[in-house]
Amino acid sequence: MPEQPFRPAINKLKPYLPGKTPQEPGVIKLASNENPLGPSPMALEETKNRLKHISIYPDQFSIELRQKLAKKFGLSEKHFIVGNGSDEVMQMIAATYLSAGDEVLISKNTFSIYEFVTCLFDGAPIFVDLKDYRYDLEAFAGKISNKTKVVFLCSPNNPTGTIIKKDELERFLEKLPPNIFVVIDEAYSEYVESKDFPASLKYLDKNVIVLKSFSKIYGLAGLRVGYGIAKPEIINCLTLTKLPFNVNRLAVAGAVAALDDSEHFEKSLINNYQGKKHLYSELASFGPKLSFMETEANFIFIDVKRNADELFLELLREGVAVRPLTSFGFPEAIRVTIGTPKQIERFISALRNTLR
Ligand SMILES: *Cc1c(COP(=O)(O)O)cnc(C)c1O
Repeated sequence: MPEQPFRPAINKLKPYLPGKTPQEPGVIKLASNENPLGPSPMALEETKNRLKHISIYPDQFSIELRQKLAKKFGLSEKHFIVGNGSDEVMQMIAATYLSAGDEVLISKNTFSIYEFVTCLFDGAPIFVDLKDYRYDLEAFAGKISNKTKVVFLCSPNNPTGTIIKKDELERFLEKLPPNIFVVIDEAYSEYVESKDFPASLKYLDKNVIVLKSFSKIYGLAGLRVGYGIAKPEIINCLTLTKLPFNVNRLAVAGAVAALDDSEHFEKSLINNYQGKKHLYSELASFGPKLSFMETEANFIFIDVKRNADELFLELLREGVAVRPLTSFGFPEAIRVTIGTPKQIERFISALRNTLR
């Protein structure tokens, strides 16, 4: 490699490994937790209507969407920041709070962008083990030092599908020094069934930033819209690091329309609940060949007890793209998006053929 003058931090960045988007006709994608029912029809209609305005810059602060979100959550638009996906809000958080050497607490076996944005801004990631496939907030508390600046929590966790419980979160936030920012990534919160899931917006008086996304239940992953919810002082700081026109017109219009489409939302939820019950019973029939985690999200974690990268290729030959979890630190597990009933059947029969 030729010598290039770049910041040393760039050496530490691991390229993001996306779920495979198959190009071959007839192969189904259960690799990236996209909505198997597609986009909200109302969002589709509205983005089409607004196409004619794309010669005009979008609103710098995505005000239309923030006002809509403010109504939905009973807050003010000052509590919201919109990003080009919630990934971008994670980047703004790192850009806002990290100086070289600041420590950021990140779980092992979780979404990789937390580590990426930390390294991008010269922070030092400090890793915490999962405990029984769940976030271990006692272990997080034990790693807090006077250099800790940011804590990233993912609930439900991608890829295990487990949540942080209300009492666990409360105990953690009580102990937390006031100069530390806690990010709670709730990209999958709409799917949660557990009564123990915390109402994280109750903690906005603290240094808590809750992240949500239009990429999952709203079916708009390709438009790129996500948002952060926090007290206005925090939102103001994050906004200072934001590029002016970070979210495009179509994305804002699509997201606003998707929030009105309760029919698509409900259908998506029902598909997910029924799909997960369907998967539980089919997967149980494999006996000791595999084990799986009950999930609070729109995907399921399956320990396939053999090399996941190889199984991924075999499943692909059977026409199903799943996510091997090697890069998440689980070389013998896969993550499978809960698809439509037909897709679930396809996946189960492919799995039978490959685990035979
Ligand atoms: C999919 C996902 C997101 C959403 O990212 P976007 O940038 O909004 O598409 C965020 N966090 C986790 C853990 C995810 O799995």
